[in-house]
Amino acid sequence: MTDLLLRDALLWHPGSAGDSLTDVLIRAGRVAAVGPGLEAGDVPVEGLGGRLLLPGFVDAHAHVDKTLWGGPWVPHDAGPGLQGKIRNGVEARPALGLPNPGYITALLQQMVACGTTHARTHVDVDTAMGLAAVHAVREAVARLDGRITVDLVAFPQAGLLTAPGTAELMDAALAEGADLVGGIDPAGLENDPVAHLDVVFGLAGKHGAGVDIHLHDGGPLGVWQYELIIERARALGMRGKVTISHGFALGEAAPAVQERVIAGLAEAGVSLATVAPAAAAPLPLVALREAGVPVGAGNDGVRDLWSPYGDGDMLERALFLAQRGRFVRDEEIEIALEAATLGGARVTGRRAGFAPGDPGDFAAVPARTAAEAVCVRPVRSLVVKGGRVVARDGRLV
Ligand SMILES: [Zn+2]
Repeated sequence: MTDLLLRDALLWHPGSAGDSLTDVLIRAGRVAAVGPGLEAGDVPVEGLGGRLLLPGFVDAHAHVDKTLWGGPWVPHDAGPGLQGKIRNGVEARPALGLPNPGYITALLQQMVACGTTHARTHVDVDTAMGLAAVHAVREAVARLDGRITVDLVAFPQAGLLTAPGTAELMDAALAEGADLVGGIDPAGLENDPVAHLDVVFGLAGKHGAGVDIHLHDGGPLGVWQYELIIERARALGMRGKVTISHGFALGEAAPAVQERVIAGLAEAGVSLATVAPAAAAPLPLVALREAGVPVGAGNDGVRDLWSPYGDGDMLERALFLAQRGRFVRDEEIEIALEAATLGGARVTGRRAGFAPGDPGDFAAVPARTAAEAVCVRPVRSLVVKGGRVVARDGRLV
């Protein structure tokens, strides 16, 4: 069923929730018409009774391969810092049976029930397990049978230059169809940013893939790597195909530096993904929005060896984003919701919204405005993927 008529919805556009009830007709999985009182013959109808209709949530930064969702509760005991977490993740994984297609399936189901219709997940590729995580994620995505679409990033979590053999495995993952090349702290973890970016962008060029680089490094070192990545994207003409994830350095930087970096991001067409962490300076979302830099939000790891937190809900992530940005006005809170929906779509190169031709991916919530939806985080009344009802009242269909 990819034809569907959504009846009597309040459509959310950033800056306004309509105040009149509108219908959305989806044909062959895409928006065909929008307006009041649409007639569509024998197309199935879902009455929304005035609920707020949002574009489907996009989780623009996930690590579903690592999850323990649906499995045992594992107390967190990783050592401090990035290196401690990386080591713990690799060492504790085998005894817990990770990566586990069953856990990944359970998490994806939970994400769909929460209204997420598309995700970009980083997937660990390392010399200890080869491509096992890539295969596990693929298997889980297949089990979801189209209820969610997922892009895979071949991600060198345990290092690339510092872990010889990893580049070859990433090459193999991309040859098997992984969508993007991952990178991680070219300076702070890898100690050679130029060589790291040579490998990452070399693989991207070879496979025609996008790039998504984890950049935790803060301070001037982090800002310098922003500029190295911007320069690569510009030189290689990769507008719209390069994302910096986390990018804490931008939130910490002085206003003049922020202004320079944001102008560079906008000019080179580099996007950002944030998980709104409690312990880092938030990205300057308002300035980024004004400059037209796409910003997506993501849940990062959900209940895994890196963190016991999270439940896959992007509306909760929008709340965190709003709180950490100290947003209180409706129009500010909507910027956070935008990152969780339309922003993530831009980061992942997808259309989204209510225009004819946009994908029939939506989540309906019992709220009157976008800000109310973020603050209350009501159960998702209906989730639609490509015109197909995939969840209802918080449960997978
Ligand atoms: Zn991450």
